[in-house]
Amino acid sequence: MASKREQVILRCSECGEENYISSRNKKLHPDRMETMKYCNVCRKKTLHKEKK
Ligand SMILES: [Zn+2]
Repeated sequence: MASKREQVILRCSECGEENYISSRNKKLHPDRMETMKYCNVCRKKTLHKEKK
């Protein structure tokens, strides 16, 4: 079986803007991704969470 890469959308937790699209390896990251990234709307680094 080929490894399945899942595309995830990272969404700013403060304004809700969908700023980043990333791909995740489910074996490496079984949990929801949460990462600090820059948001153009908030104009600062905010916590971005994976959108289901
Ligand atoms: Zn934001």
